[in-house]
Amino acid sequence: MDNRMQAYCDDFDKITIYMSKGYYMGQSREFYVSDLCGNQILLDIESSNDLGDTIQYTCRVEEDKIRIGRDYSVIEEHALSVPLQYRYIVKTERFNKSYYSDRNDFGATVNGDTTKFVVWAPTATDVSLILNPYSLKEVHPMIGVESGVWEISIPRNLHLSNYLFLINVNGKVVEALDPYGVSSIANHKASSVIDFSKIQIDFNDDKLPKFDSYTDAVIFETSVRDFSTDPNTNVVNKGKFLGMIEEGAVDSNGHPVGFDYFKSLGATHIQLMPINDFSSTDELFPHKFYNWGYDPVQYNTLEGAYSLSPNNPLSRVTEFSEVVSAFHAAGIRVNIDVVYNHMFDVAQSAFEKIVPYYYFRSDLNGNLSNGSFCGNDIDSKSPMVRKFIIDSLVHQVEHYHVDGFRFDLMGIIDIETMQEISKKLKSIKPSIMMYGEGWNMPTMLSDSDKTIISNSDLTPGIAYFNDYYRDNVKGSTSADSKAVKGYVLGDGNYRDAFKAALVANTQGEFGSKMFDSPTKSVSYVEAHDNMTLWDKINAACQDEELELRIKRQKFANATVTISQGISFYHMGQEFCRTKNGEDNSYRSSDSVNMIDYARVNEFKTVVEYTKDIIKLKKQIDAFGFNTTEEISNKIFFEDLDCGMLLMRIEDTLDYERVLVYFNPFNVSSHIKLDGQYRLIFDENGLNDVDITEFDLKPISIIIIAKPKIKE
Ligand code: CA
Repeated sequence: MDNRMQAYCDDFDKITIYMSKGYYMGQSREFYVSDLCGNQILLDIESSNDLGDTIQYTCRVEEDKIRIGRDYSVIEEHALSVPLQYRYIVKTERFNKSYYSDRNDFGATVNGDTTKFVVWAPTATDVSLILNPYSLKEVHPMIGVESGVWEISIPRNLHLSNYLFLINVNGKVVEALDPYGVSSIANHKASSVIDFSKIQIDFNDDKLPKFDSYTDAVIFETSVRDFSTDPNTNVVNKGKFLGMIEEGAVDSNGHPVGFDYFKSLGATHIQLMPINDFSSTDELFPHKFYNWGYDPVQYNTLEGAYSLSPNNPLSRVTEFSEVVSAFHAAGIRVNIDVVYNHMFDVAQSAFEKIVPYYYFRSDLNGNLSNGSFCGNDIDSKSPMVRKFIIDSLVHQVEHYHVDGFRFDLMGIIDIETMQEISKKLKSIKPSIMMYGEGWNMPTMLSDSDKTIISNSDLTPGIAYFNDYYRDNVKGSTSADSKAVKGYVLGDGNYRDAFKAALVANTQGEFGSKMFDSPTKSVSYVEAHDNMTLWDKINAACQDEELELRIKRQKFANATVTISQGISFYHMGQEFCRTKNGEDNSYRSSDSVNMIDYARVNEFKTVVEYTKDIIKLKKQIDAFGFNTTEEISNKIFFEDLDCGMLLMRIEDTLDYERVLVYFNPFNVSSHIKLDGQYRLIFDENGLNDVDITEFDLKPISIIIIAKPKIKE
């Protein structure tokens, strides 16, 4: 761009011009806008503003003299001419009304012997399709149709062909990926056509058990890469999609790892950290860099580093499909982590190249919103962005049969978008799960517009990671509070907060009601962010012996499982996963991030205990009520001596009464009961004996129940 002058179309009647003081002191008495035929219109200079190095002129032009999608230039009094760039006009209500397109065929669609390409580029003056850009390159001019849509049909089945769009916009000609592209060659060098009718995979949806309430979920989070990179196993496709579903894989001691191990846990859902194309790994040399993948490049294309052949666009599509199919066959649903809050790089994104200034949130002074702290925020409120996000989610449900979405930094997405997402996805797949991080980030949205915990009443069907739960049950997660203990780590001052957490913060009684339904609380103490629970215990309870710290890990795992709300685990939490105290390992090595299967055996008692408590949650209804009313009618607390706690659950489907005793302290207490109960769970896991009294041992949870009297 000419650094002497820039001119921007900011509304249907407004042109903003910046003139450098290095050029005629930034002074011009007149400006004209000129079309390609040389027809000139004199602009009305409304105001000028000294910005230091430049003078900003706000000019008016008669409405409808500028026709969007045509080339214009702006000329100043010394005859310097620069292209008129469409800028904040794309954020105006009139623009969005005029150029909204509800077409459902964006991207490349194959229908028999025809392949159609459709892209939305309302401010572009020309758009072409570049077919096979790196081989027998063909350039096909596309035709502008209604609402800023460009399209072309090629009378061939172009399954697996590569393509780019060539966009002439704002005085530049750029090559761009297809934002709707469903596959790609390595390192997003081009989009690729997929004819989904050629992919015949049975997704085994019929093998899945019924799932009709979020509160029945036990989710385990992992990254595709971490799941199988442990070098001490015989997994063949380590770090790849297919490495997740190898049956019979074992470690050097013959213990099951990977898929077989995961199946033994009892999870209802696996949650995968980002699997859509991200930037920070070299797909052809994936071992060079490690990254979690929260830096999106293509939303509808899977990550190539996880495929066996990153340059074959079919590889990632079929391999991930096989993953979903295999997990479904095992009765486990697959949720994926989606990052619709920001992109890796604005300038290089297909969005910005195709419709500059449209897709990212900004003020009207050229400042990008940065609530994500990653440099930019996606502008979900813009109608075509909202539509894109919904279309993208639908694509993944329809073509990969995924069962749920975890929205990264959901607080950056506006409420109306999340409401529409919820409505749309529920209509396609009633068992779908939707949940995310409802933190209040400083994005350019009013708080009432953000999908944050304090607005959760407005988002039916959407759950939130419960940070109150995380920080009070375990103790603060912030890096400078490593020594701070929550209730489970032995600070009795958190007993009331612990009660509030146990009921998914649905009751006002303890001063911390956050949700109108337990289905909205993701109850967790560990996720990929922050220190692992085990590292936190080691930091906060470093004076305690290993045996006691292990008891705390078990205590926390049981608490997460029997709490109301959605039970959420970071995979490895069941075997005291460690990252050696690192609290942000997003680009640390495989050795820090991998699932270290040797620990499964090392902490076998914790693994078995965790599996048992998960079994118990599934067996009885007391630990997953669906409504706030049920919780308030059935769950009661009694404070016991020394800071211990009793949770009483009355009149469940299975029992007349369930009693849960919590003792997070290194002391013992003898409990005499008011009659005979069944001991159903203790420090060794599931149990089933009659008792009338018992020792509540140090750092332990005891669950007893009174069976219903059969009439
Ligand atoms: Ca990638």
